Amino acid sequence: MDRARRRKFGQNFLDVPTAIAIAGDLPANEGEAVLEIGPGHGALTEHLLNRGVELTAVEIDEQCVDVLNGKFGDRKNFHITNIDFLKFDLQGFLDAHEKPWVTGNLPYNVSTAIIAGLMPRLHLTKGFMGMVQLEVAERICAAPCSSNYGSLSVLVSAFADTQILRKIGPEHFTPKPNVDSATMLLTPRANALQAPEGFFDFVRAAFTQKRKTLSNSFGKAYDKKKIQEAIEVLDYPATVRAEELSPEQFLEFYRVIVGEN
Ligand code: SAM
Repeated sequence: MDRARRRKFGQNFLDVPTAIAIAGDLPANEGEAVLEIGPGHGALTEHLLNRGVELTAVEIDEQCVDVLNGKFGDRKNFHITNIDFLKFDLQGFLDAHEKPWVTGNLPYNVSTAIIAGLMPRLHLTKGFMGMVQLEVAERICAAPCSSNYGSLSVLVSAFADTQILRKIGPEHFTPKPNVDSATMLLTPRANALQAPEGFFDFVRAAFTQKRKTLSNSFGKAYDKKKIQEAIEVLDYPATVRAEELSPEQFLEFYRVIVGEN
């Protein structure tokens, strides 16, 4: 076992029954396009290919790519690209495929970067169904006023309806990770927010000191006087905290701060 490689690429491979169950949760039908991130040795891939979807796999590790080509190279519905997903031409793929599903048991070290990059384009897909660390899934799917709600929840729920599907313990992987995992379904929101540039930086800044009231939680990132004025203009209580604002309220707040209507 190449431990260094497995750690570097976040490789924890699923057992067969769990892979079958997770693949079964992806509502993709025969002939539909599916983009799989991090197929590894093909635990999910196999069951998706058997269903007849047109599957494009994006895998960073050339050793995994060799394994996958050995297993599925003769299947017409299997396509693979050996690249870091963070460098993959996602927009080009979405331009060339009619509303694909996106899936994968994501490598934990880059899962939030992958999800954050996907969100602004989620409307060009049918959605994402896949696995991340449980703690990340709980942050992504958290509602306002709950302890897990933060900038990642705002970013994702600006674009997606979110749902945790399954919690998966470490015993279902080889090697066993030190954390619990969960699958989640993220589908495009009917009324996704039209977030201007700078909005998500603003949201991240608002949660910098999330236990403080909003007028103090930004630290030095934004002018405190402007923040206080916006709280008054919007008639929010002076004690309001970042965790109490929905994505829509954040956007309204941001627009007052930057002087947009
Ligand atoms: N899908 C397999 C399974 O469930 O058994 C493997 C999942 S494993 C948690 C994550 C996979 O993502 C590994 O195959 C790893 O090599 C791959 N990977 C890691 N970083 C990646 C990246 N930046 N882009 C694409 N694939 C990546």
